[in-house]
Amino acid sequence: MIKLGSHVSMNGREMLLGSVEEALSYGASTFMVYTGAPQNTRRRPIEEMRIEDAKRRMREVGIDPADVVVHAPYIINLANPDPNKRDFAVSFLSEEVRRAEAIGASDIVLHPGSHVKQGVEEGIAYVIDSLNRVVEKTPGMQVRIALETMSGKGTELGRSFEELRRMLEGVEARDRFSVCFDTCHTHDAGYDVRDDFEGVMETFDAVIGLEKLTVFHLNDSKNERGANKDRHANLGKGYIGFERIRELVHDPRYAHIPKILETPYVTRDETAKKREFPPYKEEIEMLREGRYDDAFIERIRRRHLKE
Ligand code: FE
Ligand code: FE
Ligand code: ZN
Repeated sequence: MIKLGSHVSMNGREMLLGSVEEALSYGASTFMVYTGAPQNTRRRPIEEMRIEDAKRRMREVGIDPADVVVHAPYIINLANPDPNKRDFAVSFLSEEVRRAEAIGASDIVLHPGSHVKQGVEEGIAYVIDSLNRVVEKTPGMQVRIALETMSGKGTELGRSFEELRRMLEGVEARDRFSVCFDTCHTHDAGYDVRDDFEGVMETFDAVIGLEKLTVFHLNDSKNERGANKDRHANLGKGYIGFERIRELVHDPRYAHIPKILETPYVTRDETAKKREFPPYKEEIEMLREGRYDDAFIERIRRRHLKE
């Protein structure tokens, strides 16, 4: 079975059970959740997340909780030069690791951090130190922290495989860490994802090691290769193209790795600013069947406006 899904929400009374239902409504076989709003750190206690109900439902429909991916909020910055803010980030991430472990997820994806202004060297040193402290605060946990490949916007760390390697080699408990490969981010960081994906993966293997790769984020990119921008596009609507993502999804070498769409919601019409409709049902279907429909955005609008 192809391990393919999207990020879904977790809120209301249904919490994780609602996440499972949302994933099923897209025809997904896995999913990714933020344990609350990605831009803040307000979280419900683990007991209110309805994890057991969600797991029961997953068993019914054949989703393995180990394929579920958690994403840490992107505002926590392990490289923050302010020690108090770094302490907060460490404590918060430790709580997130506990929540991910309770869900039974194999990986929690993390943006390694931004160095703000003290430079890459110091930034990476802070990240490593912070990660070691998170491991200390969460002894014996199975869930891995998957460092995400970043686009290099601003002062983001992890914009190259080499930077990620330094983090992975710098931490004490190496088996507690892995890597999430984001197709938009690596393309934006300058890797030739569109025309030389084989070469990119060979480089990944040489620098980091393919055994460390545990999550894919599937996104097209609104910007040219090397733009360091991080703006996701819907499948086939950007500079990477549908073919690359389709091949990746069907590549038997990566069959065991959960693949998660984070493409943007669709607007009501061309001029609307507000994004309202999830594209995942249509995108998952196109990837599964390997057939691209150029008019799928229109189709999504029609379907939702009729409902
Ligand atoms: Fe991310
Ligand atoms: Fe991502
Ligand atoms: Zn992104």
